Formats: sequence, C-alpha cells, structure tokens
Amino acid sequence: MNVLVVGGAGFIGSHMVKQLGRSGCRVTTLDNLSNGHRDAVLYGDFVQGDLADKDLLAQLIQPGRFDAVMHFASFIQVGESVQEPAKYYENNVANTLRLLEAMRLAGVNRFVFSSTAATFGQPLYSPIDEKHPQQPINPYGRSKWMVEQILDDFDHAYGLKSVCLRYFNAAGADPEVQLGERHEPETHLIPLVLQVASGKKPHISVFGRDYDTPDGTCVRDYVHVADLCDAHRLALESLIHGADSQQYNLGNGNGYSVQEVIETARRVTGQTISTVDAPRRDGDPDRLVADATQAKKVLGWQPQWTSLDEIVAHAWAWEKSLPQ
Ligand code: UDP
Repeated sequence: MNVLVVGGAGFIGSHMVKQLGRSGCRVTTLDNLSNGHRDAVLYGDFVQGDLADKDLLAQLIQPGRFDAVMHFASFIQVGESVQEPAKYYENNVANTLRLLEAMRLAGVNRFVFSSTAATFGQPLYSPIDEKHPQQPINPYGRSKWMVEQILDDFDHAYGLKSVCLRYFNAAGADPEVQLGERHEPETHLIPLVLQVASGKKPHISVFGRDYDTPDGTCVRDYVHVADLCDAHRLALESLIHGADSQQYNLGNGNGYSVQEVIETARRVTGQTISTVDAPRRDGDPDRLVADATQAKKVLGWQPQWTSLDEIVAHAWAWEKSLPQ
C-alpha cells in the first residue's frame, strides 16, 4: 500500500510514518518543516514542501500513486489561534482544501484526518461521545470543524471517503525512544512538566486553580501517541475495506487534572517539580474526557498504553534522550 503522510515530520505524524514503514507500507512524507524535524522521518521518501504550493501537490499526487492520504499538518495552539485566526484558517482550512482538491484530481479517495476534541467546545456532558454537539469556541476548533464539514460535502459530491479522528490530549512518546514531542516553543503540559524535571525550566505554570473540578485544575484525557497511530492504521484499513466515512473520538476515558499530571511526573521521574499559579488560559474548558466506545466497537481499537504513569514514563525517557 502507498500512503502519503502530510505532516509526517511532526509529533504524531512521525510516529505514524514509523508504524506504517514498519508494517511494510510504502510511505511518503510531505512536510514543510515549519514545526517538524527531518530527522524524525525514519521511513520512506521525504518531500519538503507546502500545501499552499498547488504545482507541487499536482506533481506529487499523480493518479495511481497513492492509495490513501493521512493529514497531520496543522497549527495546534488554541491561544495563538485566537490572536492570529487568519493563520489558522489559511493553513488548517485553505491548505487542507488544496490537498483535497489535488486528491480529487488524481482520483485518490481515502483520507484520514487529524481532528480534535476542540471541535466540541464547552462540554454539555462527559464523557464526550460522537453525538455531542460541535460548537467550537476558538478558531483552532472551528478550523478543524470546518474541515470535517468539507469532508462531508466531498463525500456526497465526489465519493471521497474519510475518517476524522478527534484526539483528546495526545501525549507520550515512542516506546523505543526514537521519537517524541519537540515543539518549538513547547506549550503542552506533559513535555513542559518534564522539562522542569530535567532542570531545563525552573517551574511549571498552572493555568487556573478555580475550575469546577475536584482540585480546581483542568481535567484532560491523555492518550498515547502510539495508540493514536493504531487508530489511524485501523481507520485506513476500514477505508480500504470499503467502510463509509466516519468520525471517532479518541481518548482513554480517564480524566486527570493538571495537578495530578504534575504529581504523576514527580513520582515517575523522582525529581522535584516546582509550580507557580498562573491565570486561566483563554478557551480552556474545565473537563475534556472522551467516550471512545465507537472506535473500540467499530474499528476494533484497543489502546495499549492507557495509564498516565506509562504515558509520562515514555515521555520522560524521550526527554532524557534529548540534549540536556
Ligand atoms: N497547562 C498548564 N500549564 C502549562 C501548559 C498547560 O496548566 O504550562 C494546562 C492547560 O491549561 C490545560 C492542560 O494543561 O488545562 C493541558 O494543556 P495542553 O496545552 O497540554 O493541551 P490542550 O488541552 O491545550 O490540547
């Protein structure tokens, strides 16, 4: 099978390229390296380029060349999306449309899309299943929701079949310690906490202690990157076997507060981790926890690394492997 992985040099994409390469797929990565790393692409061909480049897309996505496309390339910072919505709609929506158009012209009609829990907005109930209304509260969430709607239209009009995978909080690292999170700047909780543990940062800021949760800090559902990749592979297989377009929520169904994440990191690393209380971050709901029953039932998804200790331990092994 020939798979094009857009954003294959990024955090989740690079794990996907490794998994696909290992399983014998022919994989091609397209990445502009704006956030990704060339050395994170461990298998297959690499093309450096941007989705805004229509000529490049037409040249790369030739009829018959790819059986499917997986799309991981997007901007992901909620706060930044509020400050710079144009950047988010341009990259996450317009560029995705260019990719879909190139696929349509080449007759590639299988697509696995990285969507997000941010498409739901403020939860009306918890855990969140696929029937939960989608009312995103920031441009990031709206950009992903728009692509979900475009995909619905492309299915009706052109027969392009897609699976939208709505991640909750992607975390962890390659259990073989070849890959992990390397965002610059890093904004995610677990890698930042571990940078404090390794002495790179003096403290972790806790964004808000007055949420409506047991300890007052935000509750999130952390899901291991390797498990997310398993879901992508299963989604791809379902499309190959003729499944209809679908959307699935991906999480472990366990909510952990920011405070619990910090305590877990203290336990796993054995290091002191200082905290500083900081104001709430814009656009953070109290609690985001997934109901992933559908992915388990329909795709047969069985996450392997469900405990927060394991997720943090893998991320810690990765952090220790980086230059200190
Ligand atoms: N968070 C925090 N301090 C930080 C980074 C994040 O308290 O330095 C909190 C954030 O407000 C949220 C949770 O940690 O409640 C997870 O945030 P992250 O940015 O990792 O993922 P997101 O939920 O935005 O996808």
